[in-house]
Amino acid sequence: MGRKYDVRKIISKRSYTTEEIAEVFGVHVQTVRGWSKGGMEPIDDVSRPFLFEGSEVRRYLSEKRSKSRVTLKEGEFYCLKCRKAVHGVRVRCVDTRRQLGSGKVSVVLKGTCAGCGSVVNRFSAVGGGAKSLEKIETPSDLSAFENLPLFEKR
Ligand SMILES: [Zn+2]
Repeated sequence: MGRKYDVRKIISKRSYTTEEIAEVFGVHVQTVRGWSKGGMEPIDDVSRPFLFEGSEVRRYLSEKRSKSRVTLKEGEFYCLKCRKAVHGVRVRCVDTRRQLGSGKVSVVLKGTCAGCGSVVNRFSAVGGGAKSLEKIETPSDLSAFENLPLFEKR
């Protein structure tokens, strides 16, 4: 699902600013900031602007790609820090209000990694199928998520 980035465009032994990385891949700086929040570590987190070592950018993007190959079971999340499927705790559901067709609604499940406490997210769709956290009959059944703590609607 995730977009493929050609990591060979990045020189391992060079350091890059957020803007430079955005330019290399032709993406918005906001996208690169997202990578940084998602686990791409700057050389040091005190200096501004952030500088990222090429090898770190490569590592992050390569893992991001393999991440999309991980099959998550119901209730599982992918933790960028643990680098594996983990169980989420304090899971809440955010209704994105995006209709996906055939009565399905796009939602984001947000939780905390049971292993390391990092924030984990998972996109999901509800509608059609069994009444479980991941498969809810109709959009109105989203109210089922209200049993979860911190239910919020966007
Ligand atoms: Zn974790």
